[in-house]
Amino acid sequence: MKLTYQPFELELKHAFTIAKFSRTSTPVMLVQLEHEGYTGYGEASMVPYMGESHQSATDFLQKVDVNQFQYPFDFEAIINYLDEIAPGMPAIKAAIDIALHDLEGKLKQQPCWQLLGSDPALMPVTSFTIGIDTPEMVIKKLEDARSFKVVKVKLGRDSDKELIKTIRSVTDVPLYVDANQGWTDLQESLDMTYWLHEQGIVLIEQPIIKTDIDSNAWLSERSPIPIIGDESVQRLADVTKANGVYNGINVKLMKSAGMHEGHQMILKAKELGLKTMIGCMSETSCATLAAIALAPLCDWADLDGPFLTTNNPYVMPEFTDGKWVLNGDNGLGLRLRN
Ligand code: MG
Repeated sequence: MKLTYQPFELELKHAFTIAKFSRTSTPVMLVQLEHEGYTGYGEASMVPYMGESHQSATDFLQKVDVNQFQYPFDFEAIINYLDEIAPGMPAIKAAIDIALHDLEGKLKQQPCWQLLGSDPALMPVTSFTIGIDTPEMVIKKLEDARSFKVVKVKLGRDSDKELIKTIRSVTDVPLYVDANQGWTDLQESLDMTYWLHEQGIVLIEQPIIKTDIDSNAWLSERSPIPIIGDESVQRLADVTKANGVYNGINVKLMKSAGMHEGHQMILKAKELGLKTMIGCMSETSCATLAAIALAPLCDWADLDGPFLTTNNPYVMPEFTDGKWVLNGDNGLGLRLRN
């Protein structure tokens, strides 16, 4: 098996502003694993707040001995091996895991979604995310979102209600909101959940700082809308901890170190009665296809990465009626540009 990789800078369509920062591009690492005439494609999307970079990813990949990866792939052993090389760094570990899943599908001549037990008929609609912006820009971004059945809005500033009112003045599409830990006052937070409920909001992601477990649990118990843990839920061990604190979890492959553990997280959450959402970072078609393969196992999908970028190096996956379409290609179904 041969490992190659290229650093890539993924440009964003709009400067992306959430509760704590703003940026215009995302460093990604594109990874390929060649084996028996097939190539598996993987990707690490390294959003700055997660602490990974082109340099840290390169340093990590130089320590990886791909001869450790035997066919048939034992993903549990592989992720343990990667965790032994260095703690953390879930995005670059995900890149390797995704490339191995793509390779596995190509070797077994089956799509990844089939190997993971996903039913294409259960594909949820995908939301389209709108960052914090001026009312004029929000309305412009909503025009970009016309082909989506759900819109996700980033909250966490004083202008939250104005933003929702602006959106409601032009559309009654269902909304997800993500406060990215921006809410502080507990009673105000509860009042806000009731106000948002009246505005047709479906779910709220990570309203309160993740370290305040008691407040998150208090709010989840009382909110008329499901509260979903995102920043607080990274890997498999966090799912059990989320039980009783949140009503659901947001699984992202760049947090979970890839498809294998992301799949385990979804199954664990279902077992515990937690709702499941699958989300993404700013990603190319590669990591998005990896998440799409798991999306039918989840209640909600927030997989808009390729719509928010301008230089996706791969062909855009098929998207119809607000949903991604699982193709019958072996592996991820990633298609290269000619
Ligand atoms: Mg979130």
